[in-house]
Parts: sequence; C-alpha cells; structure tokens
Amino acid sequence: MAIRVNPEFINELDRFGAEDVQLCYQCGDCSTVCPHADEVYRFPRKSMKLLQMGLEQKIETTLEPWLCYYCGQCSEQCPREADPGETMMSLRRWLISKYDFTGISRAFYKSRTVEVLTIIFVAILTGALLLYYGFTNGNIGIYDGEGAFLPSHFVHRFDLSVGAILLVFLLINAFRMWKMVMVRGTNFPVPWWLYIKKFYQLPWHFFTQKRYSECEKKRGHKIYMPWLIHLGLMLGYVTMLVLVMVFVELLQKGPEIRWEVHVFGYLATIGLLAGTIYFIRGRFKKHYIQYKKSHGTDWVFVILLFMIVITGISQHIFHRTGLIEMANITYVIHLMSAVPWLLRMPFTKWAHLVYRPLAMYFASIRREAIERDTAVKELYPLVIK
Ligand code: SF4
Ligand code: SF4
Repeated sequence: MAIRVNPEFINELDRFGAEDVQLCYQCGDCSTVCPHADEVYRFPRKSMKLLQMGLEQKIETTLEPWLCYYCGQCSEQCPREADPGETMMSLRRWLISKYDFTGISRAFYKSRTVEVLTIIFVAILTGALLLYYGFTNGNIGIYDGEGAFLPSHFVHRFDLSVGAILLVFLLINAFRMWKMVMVRGTNFPVPWWLYIKKFYQLPWHFFTQKRYSECEKKRGHKIYMPWLIHLGLMLGYVTMLVLVMVFVELLQKGPEIRWEVHVFGYLATIGLLAGTIYFIRGRFKKHYIQYKKSHGTDWVFVILLFMIVITGISQHIFHRTGLIEMANITYVIHLMSAVPWLLRMPFTKWAHLVYRPLAMYFASIRREAIERDTAVKELYPLVIK
C-alpha cells in the first residue's frame, strides 16, 4: 500500500503542542536514555523521524506515543533542544483526536474557545435540567426521601445516563484505535488466541501503571513521585465513578454517615484532592519538565476537577450539618462541573485512562506475535527502522 506524505503535518502538530520537531538531527541520544524504548519499540527518535518525513498515516497506526510516560529524560538529553518528550505528548493528543469519530476532540485541541464554550453550554444545560426538575417535583428544603429537591433515584438515573453516553463514545473510539493499530498498522499475522493470553495486561496496566513507576529507574530513584500521585488520582477517580454509578442512593442518605460507602468516598476524595493540588502546583512551578508546556486543555481538566472536588466536599458538609438548601444548591453546582468534565473525557487528555492500558495490551500481543514468527522476527527490524 502506498503511503501518503503530508508535508504540512509537522505544522499541524504545532497546534497540539509540538513546536521544535524540525530541530532534531536524528542523533538517537533520546532513544538511548529513554527507560521504555527497546529494539521493537524505538522511540522517541523514530517518531521524530516519521514526523519530519510527514508520514501521517504511519504515525496514526503506531503505539509508541502511548508507551512514553513523559518522564522528560529524552528532552533533557537532546543536544538540539528538540523536546522529544513534549512531541510524544503532542502525538498522544493528536492520536486522541484521530481515534475520536465525532471531530469534537480535534475542535477542542485546536481552539480553547470552542472547548470552554462547550463546557459552559453543557454546564448550563445540566443546571437548567436539574433546577427545572427540582423546583417542579421537589422542595429545596428537603435533601432526600419524599419531596426531595434532587431525589437519589432521579440522580441515579441521571448518573447512569451520563455513564452510558461516556461508555458509547469510549467503546467506539477504542474500536477505532484497535482497527488503526492492529489491522491497518500490523503487517504480520497475529493469532487470535494471543488476545486471550495477553488479556491480563489490561487490568494490570490500568490499576498499577507499572511502566510509569519505572520512569526514573535509569536515574536510580526508587520512587517516582508523579507516578504515585497519578496513581492516587486515578484510583480516586475510579472509586468515585463506581460510587456515583452504583451506590449513589446510599451515599445520599443521611444526615448520619454511612461508613460502608462514605469511607470509600473519603479515601477517593483525598486521592483526588491531593492529585489535583499537586498537578496545579506543578503546572505553576514547572518543577518537572513535563509541566514546562501545559496545553490549554490540561488546564481546563485540572480546574474542572478541582471544582468538582471542592463542591463535592462542600455539599457533603452542608448536608451533614443540616444546611439543606445550601446542600441542594451546591449539589446542582457540583453536577454542573462533573457532567461536562465526564463528557469531555473521551475527547481529551483523560482518555489516556483507556488508551494507555489498551496500548500496553496491543504492544504485548504484537511483541509475542513477532517473537513467535521467525520470518517476521528477521524482517521486523527492517520494517520498523
Ligand atoms: S530528538 Fe534530539 S536527541 Fe532525539 S534524535 Fe533528535 S536531536 Fe537527537
Ligand atoms: S519522555 Fe521519557 S518515556 Fe517518554 S520518550 Fe522521553 S525518555 Fe522515553
């Protein structure tokens, strides 16, 4: 199959954050220092080369950007200051926009105004719906049970609807990723049973983010703080998602504390709050190289998350201390922040929660398929060079 060259691709990627790709002169120092590159997955040098050559279709089918965890060591090492670490981050943003079939992701990455206006629109729509329901069917002075402003069975159905929309987008996009990488991008046979054999890789990488923890091993550091914080943030997010999708009716009861569910809510809140403050502080202070250049969508992500956490804590305190009107109003504001944040997930950075474990899964399948096939094994270094 002929591969189309897009000489404008390098300029297009500028909009996703990669500004210095042309400076690269292919010395390869970045791949030498990268803790995750090997002879099968040679990055970031290979990605820089494909970009300089304008091989857009080829990059579309690669997994390498997802195998990078942005430790920044390649950028520190680069003699040309071509910033390969930031280029890999930009490629991840670009790939998210390619997997997305709606075009929303692309519009968000290209214009912060479009993203902010969409968030405001969804927030107002959510607020209007909840206020209309509350004032039509309930009493703002009642939090739960009969006559409640936002009764738990209504909130539960509302949460499940948002969750279903989110799931549909993510599943379609994940399918498109599989098709690009494992069908169009894999030019050797992959036995079907390898998908079953390697399936454990999905939960393993999702829940441990093990490769991220190994980012600093070349520097001899035992613990990599961004990994630890990121893990806490992710586990907090997943725990909270399970609580609101499954246990919201128990969570909303009160005013007494229901320890069997609230203890998980408190732990998740600690993880979310610590993670959000850490990342906002990091982006201001730029003490890690990966925070040096924050894309607009990264800021929207953490600011919205911070609002969700603060309004969630406030609403909980108001409810438990008997300030019911305040609790109901804060609940509406909380959902006005949470719904746009959740619905933008498949189109922006947080989609890596799904794409990264998938990439690890696909990468291990491809690796074993290459290992098993002598002919492919001999040919593969030439194919990927
Ligand atoms: S990005 Fe920098 S270190 Fe990597 S190959 Fe290019 S010039 Fe060399
Ligand atoms: S940022 Fe770190 S993991 Fe990513 S390519 Fe550079 S050295 Fe490798």
